[in-house]
Amino acid sequence: MAGKKKINTEDENQAIVNAYRNLLRSARRSLSTGEKKQIRAAFNLAMESHKDMRRKSGEPYIMHPLAVAHIVAKEMELDANSIVAALLHDTVEDTDVTLEDIRDEFGHKVERIVDGLTKISGVFDVSNQSEQAENFRKLLLSLADDVRVILIKIADRLHNMRTLDSMPRKKQLKIAGETDFLYAPLAHRLGLYNIKSELEDLSMKYTESDIYKDIAKKLDQKKKERQRFISEFNRPIKARLSNEGFKCKVLGRPKSISSIWNKMQNKQVEFHEVYDLFAIRIVLDSSPEREKADCWAVYSIITDFYKPKPDRLRDWISTPKANGYESLHTTVMGPHGKWVEVQIRTDRMHEIAEKGFAAHWKYKEGSNDSALDNWLQKMRDMMQNPESDALDFLDDFKLNLFTKEIYVFTPKGDLRILPLGATALDFAFDIHTHVGSSCIGAKVNHKLVPLSYPLETGDQIEVLTSTKQKPNDDWLNFAVTGKARSKIKSALKEETKKVATDGKEILARKFKSNKFPLNPYNIEEASNHFGYKTSHDFFVAVAQKQVDLSQLKKFSLNGDKLEKPAKPKKEKKKRTSKKQKVINPGISDMLVFDENTKNIAYVMAQCCNPIPGDDVFGFITINEGIKVHRTNCPNATKMMSTYGYRIVKTRWTQARELSFLTGIRITGLDDVGVIQKLTRIISDELKINIRSISVDGKDGIFEGNIVVFVNDTAQLEKLSNRLKRLKGILTVNRYDAEGSEPKNNVA
Ligand code: MN
Repeated sequence: MAGKKKINTEDENQAIVNAYRNLLRSARRSLSTGEKKQIRAAFNLAMESHKDMRRKSGEPYIMHPLAVAHIVAKEMELDANSIVAALLHDTVEDTDVTLEDIRDEFGHKVERIVDGLTKISGVFDVSNQSEQAENFRKLLLSLADDVRVILIKIADRLHNMRTLDSMPRKKQLKIAGETDFLYAPLAHRLGLYNIKSELEDLSMKYTESDIYKDIAKKLDQKKKERQRFISEFNRPIKARLSNEGFKCKVLGRPKSISSIWNKMQNKQVEFHEVYDLFAIRIVLDSSPEREKADCWAVYSIITDFYKPKPDRLRDWISTPKANGYESLHTTVMGPHGKWVEVQIRTDRMHEIAEKGFAAHWKYKEGSNDSALDNWLQKMRDMMQNPESDALDFLDDFKLNLFTKEIYVFTPKGDLRILPLGATALDFAFDIHTHVGSSCIGAKVNHKLVPLSYPLETGDQIEVLTSTKQKPNDDWLNFAVTGKARSKIKSALKEETKKVATDGKEILARKFKSNKFPLNPYNIEEASNHFGYKTSHDFFVAVAQKQVDLSQLKKFSLNGDKLEKPAKPKKEKKKRTSKKQKVINPGISDMLVFDENTKNIAYVMAQCCNPIPGDDVFGFITINEGIKVHRTNCPNATKMMSTYGYRIVKTRWTQARELSFLTGIRITGLDDVGVIQKLTRIISDELKINIRSISVDGKDGIFEGNIVVFVNDTAQLEKLSNRLKRLKGILTVNRYDAEGSEPKNNVA
């Protein structure tokens, strides 16, 4: 480290030395002297080449590669080559160091990993979406090459997320969006459970900071109570387990903030109603041949003390998840009538659950991991299909990451893993493209079912085919797997290509009989006249007899050029009228864009209906100026990650003379006067205008949907707090009322 003293302070140098020592200590795998030497050399090279650089936070740049290497060593338990590559991951990209330098000093393997990292470094950071999808293919292909490239990339992102505070707000949103959209699912796929949860929590901290802080605070307040409960729950089990000779650890661990928030949203419940804020884990010391029997024995002991919830048993030991996760899950009725989730697993399973594929390698030395291979094969199939559109691919990929899985069987009893919601048709395509394309139906558990039949775990499926069958448009309405969808789409494209050729021939004959030369100019003129955007669409329409070709007679030949008939063009309808209405210049002074720009045309996004006070951002659209979305809009992460360059920072001004439509959903105990009570509070007491109100009652509980005009979030909060205090009211939640564009006419 000699020679850095000119730019680094003494304290900084001390911090660097400490971080380096900490890295060596944290490497859980024992390192040989040779490996230690390599790590030292990598550190020196990174130190030297980054010496003039500092991070946004002001600290010396070298602290970043050191931290990434630390994650790789400690949290992923990767090997020495990975630690070396992590230390060097930004050198080729940002400094004068070349790949040759790295190969000469650290060998071919490290060179390949650093090369992979450099090549994919731009993957998520490009200005155009289809380029991004293309880069994403490269990323996944490199996965096939060496999965360590992706693991180090995830470690890099994790450290950047941990230090995101020093970035400007716009960048924070973009980076947090990408993390949620791509990195967290990738980490999940690779079985890095802890890292996935941390990435999701960190992303939420920036995109939904208020909710994040609120839940974190509540979790903290409940900490003592939770610990008391956990030890009360554990006491009898621990005693019995040790009596029966089990060596085990019993751990109680709170769920992540983002998973609690997901549950609150999915189930429409409040924080205190989320019953499984934590899970109890029983981690057994067991031998490979006894582990399954031991886990079930422990299950039996626990359910002697606490009654299990019948539909909440999950056996991931007999059938591990696709990412390699193994565990036995059950939910039991604990003390004080509280449901508690219990996860039973062995040390080996625990390590795989926490650290993912790295741990797999350790246990399966020399053998291939079939789950990863399987997944990679699927990804490769999709990428190698030249017909599949790069953007479709991205969507399909996302679908593949997020859906949960079902396990079904072939007639011979082979297991197939498909995403939840997959149909008989998906199964057919999973068997073989040819089987899928000629599928006419299936027998599920020996009963005849249509192609669209949704499969369930445990189903056994026999596919029925016919040589006369071929894919049609309708199939896309129920095929859900990436493989089936891309195969159907390419078959359909093939089909329309044929149809277009037929159409072109028909047109050629018509042109000939009218004595028009068939050249690109004339084809374009004619397709424009009939209102088709491309000649391809025009040919298809001609073949399908959707075009009245007798109109061609009205064309005239001008030289050898076709001339349009002079008549009013009714098909060129201006589409502005509807769109313009939404842009409301009257409210332009309510928002400030970027640093200080006012009076830009903007509209409120209909997907999330922001109201003043909401955390918002602007999104530059092609036709409608800036669209304003809430940062927690369901579409936000996708926009932020794929169109980051079109995001503008946006905040509300003080102007509050307008009202915005928003919906509130109320549940409570059914009661005769409920509508009067609600309207009296809303309109008489709080003077808020109601646009619509509907109340549905069932089994003594009612659900009311009320659409009101409010000025901002503060008023909305006041309203919901007032309603919550009302006797018999159970929940009050905001929802997005449809068509709620801003209105001027409400005082
Ligand atoms: Mn980096």
